[in-house]
Amino acid sequence: MDKLEGGSLDKRKGKAVVVFSGGQDSTTCLFWALQRYEEVEAVTFRYGQRHALELECAASIAAELGVRHHVLDMSLLGQLAPSSLTRSDVAVADASEEGGLPNTFVPGRNLLFLSFAAVLAQGVGARTIVTGVCETDFSGYPDCRNIFIQSLNVSLNLAMDETFVIETPLMWLDKEQTWELADRLGAFDFVRERTLTCYNGIPADGCGECPACKLRRAGLDKYLARRGAQVEARA
Ligand SMILES: [Zn+2]
Repeated sequence: MDKLEGGSLDKRKGKAVVVFSGGQDSTTCLFWALQRYEEVEAVTFRYGQRHALELECAASIAAELGVRHHVLDMSLLGQLAPSSLTRSDVAVADASEEGGLPNTFVPGRNLLFLSFAAVLAQGVGARTIVTGVCETDFSGYPDCRNIFIQSLNVSLNLAMDETFVIETPLMWLDKEQTWELADRLGAFDFVRERTLTCYNGIPADGCGECPACKLRRAGLDKYLARRGAQVEARA
């Protein structure tokens, strides 16, 4: 099967909850889910993000796409993780400089978020949970790995006596392929112009300097070059 799964297809039945931050990855997942499920709701976790803009961005995207948007307060993470995402007095450093995990690391963050998303999903009658986690460039986050997601899926079903399915459309994609998926979903311009990935809180193409912008830009440039070459080849 095509690993991008971006083509159009008959609408599936059922309801999905998308873990949604307003960034490139989760917005692509939101479009992916909207093509596949009858009903889609989004959940954003507030945990002391550096920029309230991130929440505003998520809310405005959800509103524009007509998706019910839940915001759950996870500010307790700020008490647990002295990282730059949760404490404004710590600067973001480039992970490659330290050779270890990025200092935006919050241990077990996906474990917590997905568990809360599952409780929410049960409450709103959704069986599917969609998350943009990715093993390909997982930056060392152990709870972005596929084996963890599979394990958590089993645990949640046992814990809650449910038949949840956790879907991870980006699991095996690199950033270039994530742009390609957005394009196939007809969402390339929307994702490029409306999402916020930048650690400095600048939407769309961002500041261009932070690690998140550099990663996003590198994937975008590669994809645009490939798309350009394909268009030329067809001409
Ligand atoms: Zn940036």
